[in-house]
Amino acid sequence: MVVEVLHTRYPQGAEKQLVQAVSGRQVPSGKLPADAGCCIFNLNTTCAIYRAVYEGMPVVNKIVTVSGSGVIDPKNIECPIGTPITKLFDACGGLKDETYKLIMGGPMMGLAQYDLDVTVGKGTGAMLAFADKEEQYVEDPQCIRCGKCVGVCPIRLEPIFMYKYLMKGDVDTWQNVLHGMDCIECGACTYTCPARLPLTHAFRLGKQEVNNARMAAKAKAEAEAKAAAEKKEA
Ligand code: SF4
Ligand code: SF4
Repeated sequence: MVVEVLHTRYPQGAEKQLVQAVSGRQVPSGKLPADAGCCIFNLNTTCAIYRAVYEGMPVVNKIVTVSGSGVIDPKNIECPIGTPITKLFDACGGLKDETYKLIMGGPMMGLAQYDLDVTVGKGTGAMLAFADKEEQYVEDPQCIRCGKCVGVCPIRLEPIFMYKYLMKGDVDTWQNVLHGMDCIECGACTYTCPARLPLTHAFRLGKQEVNNARMAAKAKAEAEAKAAAEKKEA
């Protein structure tokens, strides 16, 4: 076994970045690490595989980081899957009165929650609560063409143009010319953008639109194939 020590940078833990940092190989656009001859398992997954194979134990617990300026006493907590997040915050002394935002996941890639009525799932690694002073919402943000989002993108995409084309409703150019589906949703462009444009959020919606279209096309093709087969039998 060889332990490779990597430079501290973000994003480093994403599959494609790890493959490149450790092996020097690039995962081709739209492909998986296996296409570059690599498999990526994090430590938790590796331990879970061991327990499942040697002890017959499925994944029933998660270690969740409960943190953020809205949490009174932040902690890492091991808890059963299905635990209400209110129990996690209770174990951390509760939430501060000025808490205004809850995020399930990390600060860059996590998803905002509507309320406290959610539970820990098998993919939950963190639960964050932010207090009022960190609010950076901007009404009707406007791009100032500084280019910072392009400079920080680890995939070398062009977030400024991706956003522009998505806002125009041109998903085709976003997908096929600007390679929007290669976005790993790291949030680096959104974090860097001085105009506070919701870049990553827009790209998530763009991906959803492409995936919906793919599923609709697949369902249509299956229905047509089924109808053709029935016609042939009749
Ligand atoms: S979220 Fe932004 S910076 Fe990250 S990969 Fe996607 S476009 Fe690039
Ligand atoms: S970082 Fe923001 S303001 Fe600057 S070019 Fe990108 S989208 Fe525009």
